[in-house]
Amino acid sequence: MEEAILVIDMLKDFVYGSLKCDRAQRIIPNIKRLIEEARKANVPVIYVGDAHLPVDPEIQLWGPHAMKNTKGAETIDEIRPTEKDYVLEKRTYSAFHETGLDLLLRQLNVKTVIITGLHTNICDRHTAADAYFRGYKLKIPEDCVDSFTEKDHIEGLDYLKRIYGAEITNSSKIIESWKKSKTAEAIAVK
Ligand code: ZN
Repeated sequence: MEEAILVIDMLKDFVYGSLKCDRAQRIIPNIKRLIEEARKANVPVIYVGDAHLPVDPEIQLWGPHAMKNTKGAETIDEIRPTEKDYVLEKRTYSAFHETGLDLLLRQLNVKTVIITGLHTNICDRHTAADAYFRGYKLKIPEDCVDSFTEKDHIEGLDYLKRIYGAEITNSSKIIESWKKSKTAEAIAVK
């Protein structure tokens, strides 16, 4: 099926700390269910979160957040990575920028990237841009991404669809598609 899930910036500072986003609460249970089903379906789950150094340009703009080796840069407890998952660190909005993500996706033979996490119109968007430039297809489960405001979220989704051709979907539909392909595989084996 050649898909992988990206979990972007679901970190303590983004959900509860210096960049607290109340709307993140809506997506936590949805991401949790999606990644649990992904592990069962052998779809790789790749966490990419900020681990900033003080010299990073974003620090001027947003103030210190998710600084490398601090609690704020840890994944929230609700959806912690398992041993089976991959965890990469980033220093810009994009999960691709000098993180090794592209190499990892190629090693895993991934063709379609499913983006989850924060924020629809910032890091998800820059990650989608870099995925698009590299030839990956994009799926965005809208119940697994969010922004500081409803407006930012809705406009963010619209941009992903219009500019990168992202398929806007939801976690239930994606899980359903994995179950269907599993059934189809089982039938093919018989
Ligand atoms: Zn940042």
